[in-house]
Amino acid sequence: MRTPLVIGNWKMHGTLAEARALASAVRDGLRRPRGVEPVLCPPFTALAAVAEILGNGPIRLGAQNCHDEPSGAHTGEISAAMLVDLGARYVLLGHSERRREMGESDAQINRKVRAALVHGLTPVLCVGETGEERRQGLTFTTVEGQLRAGLADVPADGPAKIVFAYEPVWAIGTGVQATPTQAAEVHGYLRGLLSELTSKEAAQAIRILYGGSVNADNADGLFAEPEVDGALVGGASLNPQAFITIVRKAARAGAAARGE
Ligand code: PEP
Repeated sequence: MRTPLVIGNWKMHGTLAEARALASAVRDGLRRPRGVEPVLCPPFTALAAVAEILGNGPIRLGAQNCHDEPSGAHTGEISAAMLVDLGARYVLLGHSERRREMGESDAQINRKVRAALVHGLTPVLCVGETGEERRQGLTFTTVEGQLRAGLADVPADGPAKIVFAYEPVWAIGTGVQATPTQAAEVHGYLRGLLSELTSKEAAQAIRILYGGSVNADNADGLFAEPEVDGALVGGASLNPQAFITIVRKAARAGAAARGE
């Protein structure tokens, strides 16, 4: 069974004081989460403060990006090694906002994935089609291209150490979510590809999250799909109560899937 994972992506939001308040509220609301793994990805400026608040508790720390080199003359960049040093366990890679705004290519994202793996940081590799690609029937082609490119030259045991996130670009920050059926269809397709690239058994253990306008009201429907192993949550993760509710719903769906 795959343990549901719910990741809050705070994006470029919050002062240090706001980050501390948000992390504390989530920590206090999720003292003993069972059967679910919550993760917070604050902006770089708040990583150390949030790490301190989360301590060795059950909520993990993640970052929103990393560079592919361990160190060097890369002004303004942060390496995977630096994130591990801060206590981060996860790093978001290939988010569509970075693909679009920073022009990140599949090749660059692939280098970052490999760098994260080398440093023991779990990459959360995001893939997803634009609205236009979906209208043209290119959803599977797009996500397959992104997944294969993201995994190029990754060691054979690499995919099992990665979390995948299906994030349709048209659903991110728009209030329009993919239907549970749409999400399950793409997740099933991605898992089929992962079976080919690894083994059926390995692919069954890999977590594939859905991201795109997930909130406390629509989470149940998504988590009811056996192929949806949790969520990458943007906007709603800035509201501690909404994020806590989504985490609890993921835990409940996981327990129901196990027949508990
Ligand atoms: C995201 O940032 O990955 C995301 C899915 O954002 P939102 O939940 O706001 O759509």
